[in-house]
Amino acid sequence: MYRILIVEDEQAMLMGLKDNLEFEGYQVDIADDGEKGFEMISKNEHDLVLLDVMLPNMSGFDICKNARKNGVSTPIILLTAKGEEIDKVLGLELGADDYITKPFSLRELLARVKALLRRTDQVKTPKDDQNIIIGNMEINFSNYEAWIEKQAIKMSHKEFEFLHYLWNQKNKVVSRDDLLDNVWGTDYVPSSRTVDNFILKLRQKIEKDSNNPKIIITVHGVGYKLIN
Ligand code: CA
Repeated sequence: MYRILIVEDEQAMLMGLKDNLEFEGYQVDIADDGEKGFEMISKNEHDLVLLDVMLPNMSGFDICKNARKNGVSTPIILLTAKGEEIDKVLGLELGADDYITKPFSLRELLARVKALLRRTDQVKTPKDDQNIIIGNMEINFSNYEAWIEKQAIKMSHKEFEFLHYLWNQKNKVVSRDDLLDNVWGTDYVPSSRTVDNFILKLRQKIEKDSNNPKIIITVHGVGYKLIN
């Protein structure tokens, strides 16, 4: 069972979120001020944190920044108020994974929680410490490192995440929508062209002949399949 921490000083919001998340089957812990919230996040016991920005004693931004500085990697969704537009960006730079602006719909919040938990789960796959071979490429997903013919190559984080998702679904057909949902989540909506461009770039690295792919193949009308 996933364990979620809510840090929020508005009692009605706090209890409303708690009830709804519990109803969805999550185990929920709560904190109603910044210091207590920081203390609880620092225990690193949660799968996800919903973190309000304006809190007594310590702001959500400070909590986020300090928790990351202390090595806490728990995914964090910031609950921001309208008018915190600039702060939002800052919030993500501080190491938050996502944000949602109040007032938000419960449905949207739940969708983001689910998406973030799903994304985090993929990163946690146990075999990731080992180097694996995909076509021409040797790759270590946990360190974001890749080599072709023993030469280290540069790939963006998104390329790694993208390839990682395909790898986890290997030998299965993955639709473009699956890729968009699972690699980009709900906070950013790229076009399906984006997926095609990623596929193109990966093929140029992985395939012997990217015009005649044997590893990341197109399944017409459905999506893509990584063969391994
Ligand atoms: Ca508040």
